[in-house]
Amino acid sequence: MQGLMMDVPLLISGLIQHAARYHGDTEIVTRTIEGPIHRYTWADAYGRVQQLANALKDLGVQPGDRLATLAWNTHRHLELYYGISGMGAVLHTINPRLFPDQIRYIVNHADDQWIFVDLSFVPLLEKVAGDFANVKGYVVLTDDAHMPATTLPNARSYESLIAGQPAAFDWPQFDEKTASSLCYTSGTTGNPKGVLYTHRSTVIHSYCVCAPDALGICSRDVILPVVPMFHVNAWGCAYSTAMAGAKLVLPGAKLDGASLLELFETEQVNCTLGVPTVWLGLLAHMESTGSKFSSLKRLVVGGSAAPLSMIVTLEEKYGVDVIHAWGMTEMSPIGTTGVLKGKMLTLPKDDRYKLKMKQGRVVYGVELKIVDDAGTRLPHDGVAQGELLVRGPWITSGYYEDEAATKAAFDSEGWFRTGDICTIDADGFVQITDRAKDIIKSGGEWISSIDLENAAVGHPGVAEAAVIGVHHPKWQERPLLIIKPRTAGGVDKAEMMTFLEERVAKWWLPDDIVFVDELPHTATGKLLKSKLREEFGRHQLP
Ligand code: ADP
Repeated sequence: MQGLMMDVPLLISGLIQHAARYHGDTEIVTRTIEGPIHRYTWADAYGRVQQLANALKDLGVQPGDRLATLAWNTHRHLELYYGISGMGAVLHTINPRLFPDQIRYIVNHADDQWIFVDLSFVPLLEKVAGDFANVKGYVVLTDDAHMPATTLPNARSYESLIAGQPAAFDWPQFDEKTASSLCYTSGTTGNPKGVLYTHRSTVIHSYCVCAPDALGICSRDVILPVVPMFHVNAWGCAYSTAMAGAKLVLPGAKLDGASLLELFETEQVNCTLGVPTVWLGLLAHMESTGSKFSSLKRLVVGGSAAPLSMIVTLEEKYGVDVIHAWGMTEMSPIGTTGVLKGKMLTLPKDDRYKLKMKQGRVVYGVELKIVDDAGTRLPHDGVAQGELLVRGPWITSGYYEDEAATKAAFDSEGWFRTGDICTIDADGFVQITDRAKDIIKSGGEWISSIDLENAAVGHPGVAEAAVIGVHHPKWQERPLLIIKPRTAGGVDKAEMMTFLEERVAKWWLPDDIVFVDELPHTATGKLLKSKLREEFGRHQLP
């Protein structure tokens, strides 16, 4: 028997409509690329989103067309999120930190029709635009007064595009499974792979993000996403803040500690989200200036493992509750979030930190399983570690037009292979021990490169650390620790070994340590271990 409830499609246009109608006076504040702070409301944004949708129609944009952005977190980028998806086209957010070859590949693979670009990225696009197959024109996210001279063909300013358009648009109603946005994973090998979200997955994911045990986003919040809107939709913030009617503070291109702190304070931000590297920069600034936060209460960290020292400093010195989260582009991205349960609040401090170091516990809507090399399920006992697979309504069912990658990504039951190795405990807390391809297999036992790296960065002389497996005649692989010191010669080998001996099992200790000036990173700021393996994979262990 079928139930008797309305079948109303979950559409992205409905999110901003709601924000404008019921939180119309709540602010959206942007540090613009041109410089000054821009301030308006959800109601103002909605007016311009409708002007944009009308302008897109005039450009001849059809439902399903892919329109790309290369842009920071700004109010104009937010308008594109709603205008493009709302009218039925697909918003393709490009990560400007990708290599030019990767940008060339994804613009053509996605068959982008128009590209919306921030002033900062015009020179980058000019270098590759000649190789784009079907791009009809470019819109620079500025006004005519700031429009640069450019070799980009058919270029105009965003403000001139929407000027004079009516601030009313009749949003089309369509199947909620229609594609809404497209985001390519940077990948450390091979071509980037496209993850194609739907209106339905986006709206359901937003409900999840707003739940108190997830990120708890509500109308009283002032949210500053440092995580870029080109990185999995700023972890869903562009949508969940509209759903909740939260105040949104967008930092533009300035993500250094001083600029962020200034916005936190002037806008009284209480919740922020970003990757560990950003928080290391912010904390360094706080330490050197002796600053304090007057309003920040919640900080979401994910994308890579948050080191214990960072969590402890934020909580104890700055009074900020750290929510450690894990997810992937393929998961919209939220999979687990580290909000403690009631019974955990009274645990001894060290035990609470042990939980906070984990990547959080699973949210409703995501199913998890871990399997061994033979694909057999392992228990959720917090001890057994295996490859993590996931299932759920906001998890990809296949890569966009990439059969080979899709085939490799799912098991025979249709679960998505995350490529992460982890344990899961009875409360649903996941602890990522490594990427499957990075874990070090030493004599049949596994050594977590992440745990070793975290232990190493706990040393004050270490700016950044990476661990890779190096071939060993007896043990198959042994760990090599690669350190970027805070200052040249700031830490030596013997001192580092002694430091690690107190922190990790003896058989985990690296067989050697090398010091470098810089470590390579991916476009999303993660350690590029494939490059390190190329460079140090044949390192002679002593
Ligand atoms: P890309 O590296 O292409 O940007 P994603 O952002 O989707 O791709 O990266 C997802 C991966 O990042 C996860 O599979 C996991 O390996 C890693 N990751 C994400 N959050 C965490 C975390 N809190 N701790 C450790 N690793 C994490």
